[in-house]
Amino acid sequence: MKARTSFEKSVVAANERLTDIAQKQIDWAVNKCVSHVAFRNAHDKCVCGDCGHSFIYDGKAKNIRCPHCEKLLTINDTKKRNIEYKTYFGTLEIIDVIQVLRVHLLEVKYRKGHELKSFAGEVCRLWVSNKGQLAATSLRRCLGWYVDSFNWQSKIELRQLSDVLMHISDCYIYPHYRLLPELRRNGLKSISMDVHPISLMKALLTDPRIETLQKRSDHNALKHFLQNGSDLKHCWDSYKIAMRRGYLPDDMMMWCDLIKLLDKCGRDIRNPKYVCPTDLKAEHDHWLNKVRKAEQKKRDEIQLKKAKEDEANFYATKSRYFGIVIADKDIEISVLDSIEAYKNEGEHMKHCVFRASYYTKPESIILSAHDREGNRIETVEFSIVEGRVIQSRGVCNSNTEYHDRIVNLVNTNAYRFLQAKATA
Ligand SMILES: [Zn+2]
Repeated sequence: MKARTSFEKSVVAANERLTDIAQKQIDWAVNKCVSHVAFRNAHDKCVCGDCGHSFIYDGKAKNIRCPHCEKLLTINDTKKRNIEYKTYFGTLEIIDVIQVLRVHLLEVKYRKGHELKSFAGEVCRLWVSNKGQLAATSLRRCLGWYVDSFNWQSKIELRQLSDVLMHISDCYIYPHYRLLPELRRNGLKSISMDVHPISLMKALLTDPRIETLQKRSDHNALKHFLQNGSDLKHCWDSYKIAMRRGYLPDDMMMWCDLIKLLDKCGRDIRNPKYVCPTDLKAEHDHWLNKVRKAEQKKRDEIQLKKAKEDEANFYATKSRYFGIVIADKDIEISVLDSIEAYKNEGEHMKHCVFRASYYTKPESIILSAHDREGNRIETVEFSIVEGRVIQSRGVCNSNTEYHDRIVNLVNTNAYRFLQAKATA
């Protein structure tokens, strides 16, 4: 890739001048970034992966110190003779007033009875200017199954800053480093493991909101907003108000969801009453419920509008049954005679008679069974093809104590529907 901007040109120049990292940095990575092993066989004989010496240990502890080299080892009860670990680690430098994170692949090989062997090779460098511009120089990537496989014959050159490079650079960092004065001015004292160092540096140099969070040491919010840029956009004003009140949500994800729900419901998301809830979970669930109900209502209205467009067809197939009322001394069962009646029935009985478009089923008649005061009991589906009730359901699809009575009552009056069908 050709350097186009002046920043890229200065990166290319600086890239040529970087020297190899020091052996002490590799030694640190071997010590801190991979686990150290002891091979233990069935006779409790342990072999240290680091120095290759053996000793006896029959205890239950997972970790033990080698009596020969004093390394803290993780016990592996295994018949294996070779164990290999690979990881990435980073070193931070400043060159030509550019911050650079150099990422190295570390391979550590343990062979039973031998000293450990390690290899460290530099894979990529991520560059950050004091204005927050980013660039990357790296080895060429090999095409294949693994996205992080690199061609070790290629040169570290200016290339696209890909997701792969961002992913592998989120790694352990050698703890002795210098940071750009602009980064220190904006609150960065040290790099922590829980946020991506390059994303954090860029944000600190370009976004005053992130600088505010960094200076307040509000790591929880900093981490969330760095990883969820759209939440920063939607919730920042509310967060400022919460901060001023000393309100720090434990669960940032849930808090941001709450703010977005409140906004959907048209509530004032700058009002401390809403943005500093005492019971976050309860408030979140309350407003989530409201939003769901509002969305369902909207969907129902759209469905009703669509159904009304085809209302003529509904009357053509169903109107011949309107007016049929079946009753005994307590119960009255009548045919639903409009699309609105289906919607009301579905809403009151909390089932899908409207949402599943039963009004379009040509072979079914839907009836509502209610008591003498008009309280709904069950909704009945009568099949004209079969000449009998095929289902009858109470609130939330339950059965009521009147269920059998309602089904029998409609079935004994089946002839009335069949007559109405014949006379049409
Ligand atoms: Zn040892």
